[in-house]
Amino acid sequence: MSRTQIAEYARPESLNEAWGFVAAAGPSMRLVAGGSDLTIASPPEVTRLVDLSGALSNEIRVTADGEINIGAMATLSAIAEHRTIASHASGVVAAMMTDVGSPLLRNTATIGGHLARGKLSDIIPVFIALDAEATTYTGELHTMTLAEYYDDAVNKQPHILTNIRLPPLPHATAAFLRLSRTAFDFPIINACCRVDFDGDLVTDARIVLGATPLRSQRASAAEAVVTAADLTPDGIAAAAEAARAEITTKGGWTASAEYRTHLVAVLVERCLRQIAGDGGAA
Ligand SMILES: Cc1cc2nc3c(=O)[nH]c(=O)nc-3n(C[C@H](O)[C@H](O)[C@H](O)COP(=O)(O)OP(=O)(O)OC[C@H]3O[C@@H](n4cnc5c(N)ncnc54)[C@H](O)[C@@H]3O)c2cc1C
Repeated sequence: MSRTQIAEYARPESLNEAWGFVAAAGPSMRLVAGGSDLTIASPPEVTRLVDLSGALSNEIRVTADGEINIGAMATLSAIAEHRTIASHASGVVAAMMTDVGSPLLRNTATIGGHLARGKLSDIIPVFIALDAEATTYTGELHTMTLAEYYDDAVNKQPHILTNIRLPPLPHATAAFLRLSRTAFDFPIINACCRVDFDGDLVTDARIVLGATPLRSQRASAAEAVVTAADLTPDGIAAAAEAARAEITTKGGWTASAEYRTHLVAVLVERCLRQIAGDGGAA
């Protein structure tokens, strides 16, 4: 994108004012949060930028019962460094964030921009595994699960993402693993597993694969295996095999479909072994 192609730069001071720009806009308008997408894609039709920094919050608030509310303008670094998020679901969000791009990227990229962008993401599978909710503004506020935000294509409609909520998960342990060509690169594939315990008993599970290259896929059969068989070595192996069988993969320029399918089982098994407490790095 050349600087000269931008004819208008607006910085609305309220959500409603920002929505006025979105509702009236066509393909020439682009919302800007951290602005990192503009560094890699330069669509010639974009001539108007609407900066969201004056209209949206970057605050991270924790309620008394442990619910975490993240303003859409919160940077990935602020999320990674937040004290409560550091221990939420055994620290999986903070650990995953250190795999997203570089510190420079994380200092500018926002959670709202990342989720609205909605592709090749390390964050989305983790947030879906943690039952995250998204609040959008389209003249009025709507709250839905993050999975619904994508399944119902809300992310493709004119909207402003205002807030992300992570519900309290006091009995959850989670793990995230990814594979990429370099530490700075987008993922070839990733996986997040979350297991809820009552004492030693497994009460619930989430297994979500990302960048398959689809944005996210839940491995429901594998989740059922974990819930029925607990985290025994045989149960973990069976869950990894179930995930391998049910997750759809495609080939691309970084990996073949067969390689990604192989990695589904590897990553799920290693995540579940980490949760079971035997490291899972072998
Ligand atoms: C070099 C590089 C490496 C990367 N590596 C990784 C990686 O390893 N793993 C990974 O997961 N991601 C990676 N990313 C993706 C990166 O995390 C996202 O591009 C970034 O988070 C987007 O955030 P942003 O705030 O800069 O959004 P912007 O670029 O400002 O916006 C992104 C899109 O979302 C829209 N938008 C922004 N905010 C809102 C809102 N509140 N409501 C509605 N729409 C909105 C914009 O109109 C735009 O279309 C990488 C990106 C780059 C550039």
